[in-house]
Amino acid sequence: PLSNRLKLIADYLPQGANFADIGSDHAYLPAYVCLRDKTARAIAGEVNQGPLESAKKTIQLHQLKERIDVRLGDGLAVLKEGEAQQIVIAGMGGSLITSILEKNPVIAKSAGRIIAQPNVDARAVRQWLNQNDFILIAEEIVDEQGHIYEILVADRNTGVSSPYNDNQQIKDKQLLLGPYLLNEKNNAFIKKWTLEEANLKRIISQMQQAKQLNHEKISAFQTELHWIKEELHHEE
Ligand code: SAM
Repeated sequence: PLSNRLKLIADYLPQGANFADIGSDHAYLPAYVCLRDKTARAIAGEVNQGPLESAKKTIQLHQLKERIDVRLGDGLAVLKEGEAQQIVIAGMGGSLITSILEKNPVIAKSAGRIIAQPNVDARAVRQWLNQNDFILIAEEIVDEQGHIYEILVADRNTGVSSPYNDNQQIKDKQLLLGPYLLNEKNNAFIKKWTLEEANLKRIISQMQQAKQLNHEKISAFQTELHWIKEELHHEE
């Protein structure tokens, strides 16, 4: 059975999707999508040989060779420009996802939709999307067996307006916490940021005890802590 996390990602792919799953590992996502939608096609990209073999096995098992193409390579380098209408990059850190997008921006921008699922540091991904003309259209935050995952969905050229505030301070807060997630504040959101609040408090007090004080970093963390407290403790 497919994880709830991957099912949620699949729900943001349109009928008849022609998508790439970068860092596909077992190719569970492309297999699930192609089994439920006979008109869908996918490219499963993997940089490592082991996961690539796992992907091939899944595809063979479900006889999906005609519709899922497995390719060995680094990030978006496995794709030609415009080849994938949707790009999924899931189950990695936000900084790795961002570096994959940054390495091949022309290919990234040739997709109409990017679905990213950063395990940590979603802010880096939101920033990249925002700086590269992708409009964030939806976000999900889910708690799965004690792990909290964020899913970011962004489109190009749809005429949808940006979810970010014009005020830079408010925008910075939205980039950290997620503009849609902030509005919803579901249980997973509260859980995640309650943990982060405790982490940040600890980190700040450790930094304040250091011999060489990094005032800039401390103040950046204090700002983040303030934003988190605003959301967790002062309901509007
Ligand atoms: N996407 C799947 C998911 O969300 O369940 C698998 C996630 S798995 C934790 C991360 C996968 O990304 C690994 O199989 C790893 O080999 C692959 N990976 C890491 N860096 C990559 C890169 N630069 N290009 C392609 N794949 C990469």
